Amino acid sequence: MIHPEDIPAFTAALHAALPDLLTLGADRPDHAREPHEQDWRKRYRGRALAIVFPTDTTQVQALVKLCELWQVPVVAQGGNTSLVGGSVPDASGLQLVINLCKMNQILAVDADNQSITVQAGCTLQQVQDAALNAGLIFPLSLASEGSCTIGGNLATNAGGTQVLRYGTMRELCLGLEAVTAQGERYAGLQSLRKDNTGYAIKDLLIGSEGTLGIVTAATLRLYPRPASQQAALITCPSLQAAVALLRMARQSLDAGLTGFEVIHRDAFLLARQHTPLQSHAADSVMPQDAESIPPWLVLLDAGSPQAADELQESLESLINQAVTQGHALDACLSMSHAQYRAMWQLRETIPMAEKIEGMMVKHDIGVPTSAVPAFVAQSQTALQAAFPGCRVICFGHLGDGNLHYNVQGPLGQPDSEFLQRHEHQVNTIVYDLVAQLNGTLSAEHGIGQLKKDELAERADPVRLQLMRLIKQTLDPEGLLNPGRLVDGARETSSSN
Ligand SMILES: Cc1cc2nc3c(=O)[nH]c(=O)nc-3n(C[C@H](O)[C@H](O)[C@H](O)COP(=O)(O)OP(=O)(O)OC[C@H]3O[C@@H](n4cnc5c(N)ncnc54)[C@H](O)[C@@H]3O)c2cc1C
Repeated sequence: MIHPEDIPAFTAALHAALPDLLTLGADRPDHAREPHEQDWRKRYRGRALAIVFPTDTTQVQALVKLCELWQVPVVAQGGNTSLVGGSVPDASGLQLVINLCKMNQILAVDADNQSITVQAGCTLQQVQDAALNAGLIFPLSLASEGSCTIGGNLATNAGGTQVLRYGTMRELCLGLEAVTAQGERYAGLQSLRKDNTGYAIKDLLIGSEGTLGIVTAATLRLYPRPASQQAALITCPSLQAAVALLRMARQSLDAGLTGFEVIHRDAFLLARQHTPLQSHAADSVMPQDAESIPPWLVLLDAGSPQAADELQESLESLINQAVTQGHALDACLSMSHAQYRAMWQLRETIPMAEKIEGMMVKHDIGVPTSAVPAFVAQSQTALQAAFPGCRVICFGHLGDGNLHYNVQGPLGQPDSEFLQRHEHQVNTIVYDLVAQLNGTLSAEHGIGQLKKDELAERADPVRLQLMRLIKQTLDPEGLLNPGRLVDGARETSSSN
């Protein structure tokens, strides 16, 4: 690792090699650097050697080669919307942040092949818009889509609200280009649906959180735009009823079912309190009086190549049947695009409402959908026994068995104190239960810094060993995003 006294010489070499590179150096004021040195939740704050903004792959290669030569650790950064502290430097002042946001060109749209090729710094929204302009859709959808980038989406194998129908980023990626830890260009920007020529390097890079290479461009799948798209807000008497409703919806809508989200009453109330404008969408099914609010709200999304009235008929019939069978209490359908957007805004606003409310012990767990009710009931009982009065904010992608399950201390106890004293025990309760139910401790946000120790403690030892071998082989110097996801050989030996 570079010695602090070598930093001026490294910086001089950087300027000599790339004189036009946009750089935020150590001499720049804190407020200019903060968006790149602090994470979205304001939980991790580091200090970078510098933040650099390359504009093409050749510059990324030159940067990585220099970093290898000078032994400078590299943190790849896109929109810096990571929820696990994956995209900010540590406090050493020795890590170089390579931010890809200036690499934001749409390179090609191939409507006949239903694919789009983009630079890694394009925001997700930019790619969605480019697809729409070609009469197609790019279906990945996250609340952070205005800021997060395709490189970050690939590095975290992002999920979001349409996974049920279209899959995660892994399924949406046909090919990618990346810069290796040695500064070589991996030219895998292909747009084929089938390619059986050995190890899937792209799949190794997807979900690797910047620890195996820096993604510089990608070719992504596009899909036909549904002729009609409708959402419904449906109240349910229990989570078990919501699971039964999901099963009915799958049966009747088949591939037309594009999203199935659940929101617990307390998560809804938080949104109503902190982001009231967005929660109006639910006014017709959620009473103003908090005591009368049903325990679960479902947001169902459906698309169809048929006309809007046919889709509406299918949804009405599904809801009527669900109410008759006791799986639903009440529902409202979106009757315009504005209402459709408003319903989704209600769901998407919950992370922001949580942020306003304060710090929580965050989880992004996944279990088989059939086990979700057991997970929620048992974790609630165990948490209340350990921390009477603690508050749980639960919502997420029921269709994928993926819940955002966030725990805050009892009213009156400062968040920082609860987090400091009890985070480990809360995690133990939640993750032990997840393990019993054959689940995962991260269904979509990834590992980053936040869950690295949990992963090391809980992952299958052979899997962990294979991951370390891969890291060691592709990044033997341990320079790519050290301290995240999994330790390379160097970090493992220095901690022994
Ligand atoms: C309000 C909100 C809602 C969210 N909802 C969801 C959701 O529904 N589903 C979901 O999956 N996530 C969600 N996220 C998390 C986050 O938006 C995703 O993880 C996103 O994919 C990160 O993209 P980014 O460009 O911001 O990456 P960053 O945060 O900048 O980086 C994330 C990780 O990827 C690495 N990385 C970034 N760019 C590259 C690159 N070009 N090459 C290699 N490595 C790279 C970083 O080193 C880091 O480890 C949400 C976040 C917020 C703030």
